[in-house]
Amino acid sequence: VVDARHGLEAQLHRDGGAIAAHQPQPHARPFWDALDEGRLMLPHCPVCDRYELPGALVCPECLSLDGPLEWREASGRGRVAAFVVFHRPFHSGFDPPYNVCVIELDEGPRMIGQVAESAPGELRFGLPVKARFEHEGNLPVRFVADSERLP
Ligand SMILES: [Zn+2]
Repeated sequence: VVDARHGLEAQLHRDGGAIAAHQPQPHARPFWDALDEGRLMLPHCPVCDRYELPGALVCPECLSLDGPLEWREASGRGRVAAFVVFHRPFHSGFDPPYNVCVIELDEGPRMIGQVAESAPGELRFGLPVKARFEHEGNLPVRFVADSERLP
């Protein structure tokens, strides 16, 4: 089953040809709900002013138990920190060539994502990107080159 709502946590199965999604953890629900609304939400530590990836229950930086992590809207902007381009079919849900990138968000956390519509040779380390929210396909959010921040 290809589940667009949970694509970022998708697990690839070579045999079944389907993208099986993990059930989102209840404490990560705001992240997935926000994607449906075209927003990127991240947990934020009010003690040390640091953003985390969804799933964190306690700030791994300061381990503070003084207050819970609170959800804040992120800019959706970042830069490509690493990438790989697949030229062979690995999974029926993705037609080659396709890329898998590590996106370093402006807020700090690094998340796995895909840069859409990248021309050959455009994808590079440090490329500024911004989130594009999609309601079809197998990923709820992809990134595109951020034309406003291209050098
Ligand atoms: Zn903290």
